[in-house]
Amino acid sequence: MSTATEVREIPAPPIRQTGILIGDEFRPSVSGKTFATVNPATEEVICQVAEGDTEDINLAVHAARSAFETGPWSRMDARDRGRLLHKLADLTERHLDELAALESLDNGKPIRDAKAADLPLVIDCLRYYAGWADKIHGDTIPIRGDFFCYTRREPVGVCGQIIPWNFPLLMTAWKWGPALATGNTIVMKPAEQTPLTCLRLAELALEAGFPPGVINVVPGYGPTAGAALVAHPQVDKIAFTGEGSTAKIIMRNAAETLKRLTFELGGKSPNIVFADADLDAAVAGAEFGLFFNQGQCCCAGSRLFVEESIHDRFVELVVARASQRVIGNPLEEATQQGPQVDKAQFDKIMHYIERGSDQGAECRTGGRRHGQRGYFVQPTVFTGVTDNMDIARDEIFGPVMSILKFRDISEVIDRANQTPYGLAAAVWTRDVQKAHRIAASVRAGTVWVNCYDVFDAAAPFGGFKMSGMGRELGEAGLANYTELKTVTVRL
Ligand code: ADP
Repeated sequence: MSTATEVREIPAPPIRQTGILIGDEFRPSVSGKTFATVNPATEEVICQVAEGDTEDINLAVHAARSAFETGPWSRMDARDRGRLLHKLADLTERHLDELAALESLDNGKPIRDAKAADLPLVIDCLRYYAGWADKIHGDTIPIRGDFFCYTRREPVGVCGQIIPWNFPLLMTAWKWGPALATGNTIVMKPAEQTPLTCLRLAELALEAGFPPGVINVVPGYGPTAGAALVAHPQVDKIAFTGEGSTAKIIMRNAAETLKRLTFELGGKSPNIVFADADLDAAVAGAEFGLFFNQGQCCCAGSRLFVEESIHDRFVELVVARASQRVIGNPLEEATQQGPQVDKAQFDKIMHYIERGSDQGAECRTGGRRHGQRGYFVQPTVFTGVTDNMDIARDEIFGPVMSILKFRDISEVIDRANQTPYGLAAAVWTRDVQKAHRIAASVRAGTVWVNCYDVFDAAAPFGGFKMSGMGRELGEAGLANYTELKTVTVRL
């Protein structure tokens, strides 16, 4: 394992906001309670953050409701909403280095990934939806009789948005972009592990000129603040990204008020390498598709199917790459892999590594903690993995690659689909027929051909089966945030 450096002191980015944003004011929680957010590279507390609960949610929803019903937002021209999103994108770009460093500090992701991937995607997403704001319109419909019939696309109302910790800023942008472009107001609950960048982005949104109450942010825990948001009768919709088990709780708790729900959940995505693939590209894609973001991606290529005839050569190359990954302080530019986000995730991953060995898979590299401090896990590769092992079935959310052997295309399609998940898949081949057959046969919301993790604000993303409901990004992402109204006028 290469080590960039020991975790040493690097000047931390400024922490400007740790309060709850309600209206245009960052304030302490009603209870006065706070919680600690921890630097996963050092296990030290970064700062205390206001801990929202039911009363804070009530205040935030009230602010969002007023802004939606009576505030300047409700009367604003669509084009001006777009201008505000553009301004927020500009401010994000101006503060790119600061936001990337804050994300790296709070989440543990390598600063170079934050700068090269997270932040550019955030800015693109805000600009993409800024462009949509004045292009959302209905149709005229030639119904029978002397009537003029048309449809309007109206905002859903107050949107509760609950996000996880793996891409804190990007998930914020995916949620805010379409919601704001379509004229909704927001109460967001960021993940308790990573509240800092969302709060800073909210501060930039105020600076951009979003009216008070349009964006409210309540940091806190899921079963308290999150649950209060889900149950609130004045919230029209919940958009949630996180675990399937949490989505089930949310669905049950939202039933009483029949909220609109959209979910983006977990996965166990097949990454399929045929013998005719460009081997170097496939090896690099397998590494990126699994180890990117410390393996903490819902679409990670965590079931790597390799055709039998190239299996041994492929394993040799991928193991070499995995063991050369530069692991260390995420704030160092050279670092490729930082720590896992917290102790709970670290423990879960170590448990799965143990299960992998116990159930008969062969650990070819890694398998241990890296260093003595921080939640670092060595990049780990298992071979000899079979479909029924826990490491081939469960979402590990860590740097643990499982390699499975296959013989032919029908077999691999069948095995790829034997999962309750359906978020993403990839195929590596030079044969167009194979590529399209896989693309059409694998039940997943996204299929990458000879690439992995290619994201764009314009391309819809979301899950089949237990990986989600609805799509984010692209034009499809707007549908989650509008109600369709039919107007019929007698002529
Ligand atoms: P992860 O394992 O990625 O943390 P979770 O589903 O546990 O996934 O968390 C994702 C988000 O959901 C977080 O913001 C968390 O606080 C929130 N959350 C957890 N439990 C609930 C709940 N019962 N109701 C609403 N939100 C919740």
